[in-house]
Amino acid sequence: MSKFVGAHVSASGGVFNAPLNAMAIGANAFALFTKNQKQWAAKPLDDETIGLFKDNLAKSGILAKHVLPHDSYLINLGHPEEDKRQKSLEAFIDELNRCDQLGLDRLNFHPGSHLKQISEEECIERIAMSMNEALSVTNGVTLVIENTAGQGSNLGWRFEHLSAIIERIEDKSRVGVCIDTCHMFTAGYDIRTREAYDATWAEFDRIV
Ligand SMILES: [Zn+2]
Repeated sequence: MSKFVGAHVSASGGVFNAPLNAMAIGANAFALFTKNQKQWAAKPLDDETIGLFKDNLAKSGILAKHVLPHDSYLINLGHPEEDKRQKSLEAFIDELNRCDQLGLDRLNFHPGSHLKQISEEECIERIAMSMNEALSVTNGVTLVIENTAGQGSNLGWRFEHLSAIIERIEDKSRVGVCIDTCHMFTAGYDIRTREAYDATWAEFDRIV
């Protein structure tokens, strides 16, 4: 099995710099933000930026399917307040369209937080509703749910959260999971020995 190894690389100065930064560290895969992850608004990608990104990606030899964009930290698809969920959903759809424009076929995101205002179940319903809405108005980009460490009221740290969300997705062909092993360990899944590691993955396979 070949492994594709990389890092989250800087897109500073323009998203088209990311493939060059990945190339500079000898990566054959990479993650990036397609906009400032701490801001809601971003200027739309222009044709020149898109062209440069695609040229640089081709130059790097890295395949689009080995690029995993990460969405903004501000987005909460499970927000308890409807207007704020809507704002998140709009930003999320914009992120999906940006990926599509760049020729990237997946977007990594943290599922959402209940902010101690609604139950976990209600929050999961809202996350799934947001994902279904996003899927219905976009094309080609797969929604990759990332497991979280479970700080604050963030959902997605238990494998059961991930499966409960996926269960509610209408088009399961466009949903995936990204496991952050650091988050997984912080959330209480032991991976420190070969046995523990295998047992944790067996649990993942059983549940998700
Ligand atoms: Zn993440």
